[in-house]
Amino acid sequence: MQENQSVNKKEQYNLNKLQKRLRRNVGEAIADFNMIEEGDRIMVCLSGGKDSYTMLEILRNLQQSAPVNFSLIAVNLDQKQPGFPEHVLPQYLESIGVEYKIVEENTYGIVKDKIPEGKTTCSLCSRLRRGILYRTATELGCTKIALGHHRDDILQTLFLNMFYGGKMKGMPPKLMSDDGKHIVIRPLAYCREKDIERFAIARQYPIIPCNLCGSQPNLQRQVIADMLRDWDKRYPGRIETMFSAMRNVVPSHLADAALFDFKSIQHGSEVVDGGDLAFDRESLPLQPAGWQPDEEDDAPGGQRLDILELK
Ligand code: SF4
Repeated sequence: MQENQSVNKKEQYNLNKLQKRLRRNVGEAIADFNMIEEGDRIMVCLSGGKDSYTMLEILRNLQQSAPVNFSLIAVNLDQKQPGFPEHVLPQYLESIGVEYKIVEENTYGIVKDKIPEGKTTCSLCSRLRRGILYRTATELGCTKIALGHHRDDILQTLFLNMFYGGKMKGMPPKLMSDDGKHIVIRPLAYCREKDIERFAIARQYPIIPCNLCGSQPNLQRQVIADMLRDWDKRYPGRIETMFSAMRNVVPSHLADAALFDFKSIQHGSEVVDGGDLAFDRESLPLQPAGWQPDEEDDAPGGQRLDILELK
């Protein structure tokens, strides 16, 4: 009995720590990108997956202590996929007292009708979904649309674009929508997927499976996700370092002539960003930039560094 109580206490303690970390990450992203301003009405897109539930909870949490006033409305798009449990989200949202709207549109039927059997349905499906969400944001008078993509989604997108698209392009934490009318924000941009996963399990959110449409998952994204997970296991800190790199771009040391004016470099030009050290031996920090220990590895962070090798 006593043992059970101490396990529960430890679980609660870890959950509080995790929640604090997620709050801190979300708060930092909001501040860094000026995601939320006084009077904003934010449409929180809720798919029923772990990310969107976590985003909603953390935003509600921050709402209570934020220096600005803003309101939230959760929106779910019921795409009429077979087996979609319609009652789950309304029940949950009513139980926590959040304003919400369920939009019903049979995009599943349209996609099935238009795309031949065996072909990938995701691009038409997402286009339809995006249009409906933009329209809904306008109807609800929302000033921002919040999506639940996290740090790992952003990194995966960067690698997808590099490996398959020949572009160094990720997924921005804040952007103008492609119709030029809405500001889209990603408050979880600094949050690690594994933190979200653990938080969602502890919170016991009523998760709705994401494969109801029967479409195959994007294999290329899957491959990248596996690669990143493998790196994370073998080289703790690498993911954090790569994400820090995305926030620390040096255009003068890449090769995009549209981003940096290489043509006007001449004798007498100033030295930009340290000039060229290519002939020197690089000295890299032993501690990967941005690395933080997992909550469960309460052991001092340094212990995991002994498996790091700089070659
Ligand atoms: S997985 Fe299914 S629901 Fe998701 S975008 Fe693709 S077709 Fe649409």
